[in-house]
Order: sequence, then structure tokens, then C-alpha cells
Amino acid sequence: MPDISTITAGLNAIKHAIDLTKYLRNISKAIDRAELELKIAELAEALLEARRKLLDVQEETLKLRGVINDMTQIQDFRKKVRIRNGVYYFKERVEGRGVGPYCPRCFDVDKTLVLLSELAPPSRAKGTHQCPNCKSAY
Ligand SMILES: [Zn+2]
Repeated sequence: MPDISTITAGLNAIKHAIDLTKYLRNISKAIDRAELELKIAELAEALLEARRKLLDVQEETLKLRGVINDMTQIQDFRKKVRIRNGVYYFKERVEGRGVGPYCPRCFDVDKTLVLLSELAPPSRAKGTHQCPNCKSAY
């Protein structure tokens, strides 16, 4: 997972590429061909390194956006549900979601809304519903 050192490495690679560009711009046409090719190769490597680091940062940014969206959605759901008979139900209809009942354990602990399954009468020793995810009965 990229961290602040990845961003720093990417910025350092970009700075090195900029410095090399300035160097190449300032040298005379009488430069030794071998030195010119060496500096161009160095410039290409610095740009590739910067690109790799920025791709790492882009991937991490997308992942973090997904986590933020999930957390925002759960916070939004928390405002829209209420406990009734020990399980969660939506107070009103929510697009793409059933009214309930939802597993309180999965919602409170795992921050996911899991619709409970109704148990058949012979299996109702522990409750009338069961969570297909954590297997808790209610
Ligand atoms: Zn559950």
C-alpha cells in the first residue's frame, strides 16, 4: 500500500526529471553524444519512476474513495433504520433495499446491512429469523 513515502518518491522522481530537462536545455550542441544519451536514459527512468509512483497513489486513492463511500452509505443508513424486536428495519422505503429485517450484529460490528432469512417453523428454537452471513438467530 502506498504511503506518504510513495508520494515523496514520485515527487522526487519528477524533480529529478525537471532538473535533467534543465540540464539538457542548457548544454551546448557540442555535448558529447554518449553523455547526451546517458542523460536522456536517466530522464526516461525518472519519468517512469514518477509514473509508477503516481499509479500507486491513484490506486490507493480509488481504494480509499471506495471505503469513504461505504462508510458514508452506512452512516446514511444508520439515520434511516430503527430497531424493532431486536432487528433493524428501514423507517421508510429506500431505493434498492428491502424494508427489513436486517441483522443487528452485521450492521453494528461489520458495518454491512444483511437481510435476515425467515426460518421454517421446525427450525425456530432460537428465533424466527437467521442471518445468512453471521448465522445469528433472532
Ligand atoms: Zn449477521
